[in-house]
Order: sequence, then C-alpha cells, then structure tokens
Amino acid sequence: MWNASFRAVTPVGLVIDRVTADRDRVLVAAHPVASIATCPDCGVVSTQVHSRYERRLLDLPIAGRSVHLRVQVRRFRCPNRCCARVVFGEKLADDVAPRGARRTSRLEGIVHHIGIALGGRPAATLARRLMLPVSRDTLLRVVRRRAVPVGIDPVGIDTVCIVGVDDFAWKRGQRYGTLLCDLERHRIVDLLPDRETGTVADWLAAHPEITVVSRDRGGGYGPAAAKGAPQAVQVADRWHLMENASAAFLEAVRRSMRTIRQALGSTIINPDLLSCAEGLQYEGFIRRQENNQVIKELASAGTSIKEITRRTGRSRKLVRSVLRGGDGDMFRCRTSTLDAHLAKLDAEWQAGCRNGAELWRRLRAAGFRGGLRVVTEWTTRRRRSERPDFELPRKTPPARLLSRLMTMQRNQLSKVDALTVAAIEVGVPALATARDLLDRFHRMLRGRSAEALAPWLADTEGSLLASLGKGIRADLAAVKAAMTEPWPNGQTEGQITKLKLVKRQMYGRAGLDLLRARLVIPT
Ligand SMILES: [Zn+2]
Repeated sequence: MWNASFRAVTPVGLVIDRVTADRDRVLVAAHPVASIATCPDCGVVSTQVHSRYERRLLDLPIAGRSVHLRVQVRRFRCPNRCCARVVFGEKLADDVAPRGARRTSRLEGIVHHIGIALGGRPAATLARRLMLPVSRDTLLRVVRRRAVPVGIDPVGIDTVCIVGVDDFAWKRGQRYGTLLCDLERHRIVDLLPDRETGTVADWLAAHPEITVVSRDRGGGYGPAAAKGAPQAVQVADRWHLMENASAAFLEAVRRSMRTIRQALGSTIINPDLLSCAEGLQYEGFIRRQENNQVIKELASAGTSIKEITRRTGRSRKLVRSVLRGGDGDMFRCRTSTLDAHLAKLDAEWQAGCRNGAELWRRLRAAGFRGGLRVVTEWTTRRRRSERPDFELPRKTPPARLLSRLMTMQRNQLSKVDALTVAAIEVGVPALATARDLLDRFHRMLRGRSAEALAPWLADTEGSLLASLGKGIRADLAAVKAAMTEPWPNGQTEGQITKLKLVKRQMYGRAGLDLLRARLVIPT
C-alpha cells in the first residue's frame, strides 16, 4: 500500500523498492530508474556496472514524519579507453539531488526559503514544527551557500542604471555600512561593509552602466560618486534634503529658545495677538481649501490618484479622502444628520440644557434619527468654544514641539497653539523668516522648481538658515538635479528599514554575508 502511494510523491527518476515507517519517520529504499550512465569526463555512455553504494538523502516530510531516502546508486566503468577516468559514480538529476548533497533539492529549496524569510533561530523553530530535521546552523549554512557571492552583481552587470546610496548602522553611532539600491526595480543590489569613499567608489567603478547616483548630501558619497562614477548625474536625495532642512529649522528654534521664552513669558495678552492667532487659524483653513481645490481640479481633469499624490506631494490617504468629499468645513463637524435640528439644539442649549443625553432625547422626540454620539460631540465642541482659553501655555513647550507647531501642524492649530505660534512670530521675527524659508524650500522640492533656488539661496544669507544655504550651495548641482531628475529617493530609506528588521531578527549573528544572503536576492 505504502509503495503504491509513494510512487506519486517521491522524486522523479527513482524507483521505490521498499517503504517502512515507524512513529516519527519513514524510510524509503529506492534506486535510479536509468540503466545507463554518462561519464562526467568524456561523455561516453556506459552500461558496465562496477559496484553499488548507498546514498542517504533527507526528503520533504510527509504526514508529520520525516522522510529518509536510501538510494542504491551504482558506480560505472568508463568504456572509453582514451578517458583518464576508470570508474564514475552515477549522478542523480539535479532536481533530485546534486552530487554530494545530503538533502533532496526540493527540501533544500524550502529550507533556503525559510532561512531567507526568518533567519537563524525563528527559522529553526518553524522548521522543527514542520518536521524538517535541520538545525539552526544548517539553515544559516544553506542561506549562506546560496547567497550571491560578494563582488558579483546579482541583477546582471549591465542593468543597474539608477542607484541609490545610503548608510546604515551596524552598531548605532559606531560602525556603518553602505546599502545600494536599484531605484528602478525597488530592490537592494548590494551591501558594503563600510561607508568609506574608496569602498563605495570601487563598487561604482565596477558598474560603468550607472547613469544616476542618488545620495545623501553629507558624508563621503558625493566624492565617492565623483570618483567611481564620473559619467553619472549625482542627485541629492529629496528625502534627505527635506530632513536636512527640517533639522536646520529645529536647530534655529533651539538657538532662539531664550527669546522665545521671553516672548511667551509675558502674561499680558496683547489683543493684536488674538487676532493674529485667529488669522493663523483662518490662514491654515484657506491653505487647506486651496490644496483641496488643486486635488479636485487634477481629478476632474482625469489625473489618476497616484499621479496626483506624485504631483502635489500629498499623501494617498489625504487625496482619497478629499476626492470622497471628506475635506470638511473649517471646524470639521459631522453635522450632516444634525443640520436640520441645529436651530432647536441651539435654542435648548441657550435655554440652559447642557446635558448631551437629555438634548438627544429631546431631539429624538422632535424627529431626529441620529445617534447619541453625534449630539454629545456637538455639546463637547460647543462647551469648548465657550470656555475662555485665551491663555499662553505656562511652561514653554520644548523646541521640537514648537518647531512642529510652526511647520507641520500649522494648518490645524488649536486656539492655544495658534496663540503660541502668533506670540513667537511677533516676538521672534527672525524665526518667522526662517520658517517661511523652510516652507519655500519644501515647496521648491515638491514643485520641482529649480529656478526658484537661486533667489532662495540669496534670501538665506544672514537668516537663521544661513548654514543650510551654505551647505546646499556647496552641493548645488546635485540639489538642482534633485528637482529636475525624476528619481525620488525615500525608497532607499524604506530598504534600510527592511534591513534593520532583518538585522534585529538575527540577533547578534547578522554578519555582512548573512545580511547579503537575506536581502540581496537574485532573480
Ligand atoms: Zn570517460
């Protein structure tokens, strides 16, 4: 019974002689179906069997039992008198098991995949569960053996044209490696042990087909690209440029903290400040409306969501919600079901009823169909709007938060935050200028307007962002290319995140060879 059913599942080219099974393993005795063999040296076919021996192979487990193959293979005499080889062992097909292998090819393939996906210890745990009798070391050995050898480009020597370069930490703040990424195919093409100019230049020099090198502005990658790939256009990575600019602004905030404290420290609220804060909130609202309008116009002209996110630099999620009509009004209420009842609600509120549940009951009686939640949300908003909270924060918020309020969250400031920002803008005008410069820089990058760069650079002189301007001027060609070349980066950043994850999974065992084996995967 076993024999018959096993024929369907054993590797092709083997004839099963006997199958025995005990509680946790199955022993399969087999021999090759072929009656002849070819000499590996001269290629002459031989039928003269010299002797036999047993090859032991592990195969895929079956029904919770590991499978052990015992294959009777033969040695043949080479009939060719001119051949130096007298006797040769017969070869099983490569898809059964290559010469010298201890596992069948199909088992080895699965072990390799598990090793690639999970790394050492987790892979060994899963393998044990799957009844694959391999140790952690075997798993790592299989992964290593099948890895792309160092110095050979897995994708093919003439195919990496657009390459992204960035560093990653072996040990945070101490030792760094370099990651090279094919920006066209979205994949890691190589990992280098360090980030020395020489190492990177050598790698680039071995790939004369490279036309674009996208890299960080700082560090040694600029000189490395100039040396190793002089034919390529160097592009400053947009993601890093944004980061650099934001970091420069944060630094400006840090340096201005003393003046900021003074500006926020005065307890008397200037009435001008109030209107200024409201102006900021209103400006944020208008800005949001304008952005949404642009998105809607693009969409009505038939532009795809993907293209809209690319052109506007807005997130996919935001674009989607705007197109669904979810951009909302200034106060972002979910009033749709409440609209018809607002007059009554307001009257009840004025008459002194402040209890959400009670208000809801009264509205229900008047024909309102919405839930309690809609009404309580309204009362919360209403209560908040009536509270006199025109107060500056007692403690000066940390620089990081201030920098965020002044930049990222400026479109959606709460009343208190708007007041804080207004106080800073009035009290520390240099910081307001720096913020505007940062805004302009981000818009330039998003809008790919390289011609705006020169006037922007002139304006940074003497400002709080002077050193950023200076750095960019020193790397002008690459920054201009960042605005004109179509290659976004950030992608390299994503690959580095992936690398960090793999590194963490492998605990302390993540040497360069293993990282390469798991990340630089040949097609
Ligand atoms: Zn021969």
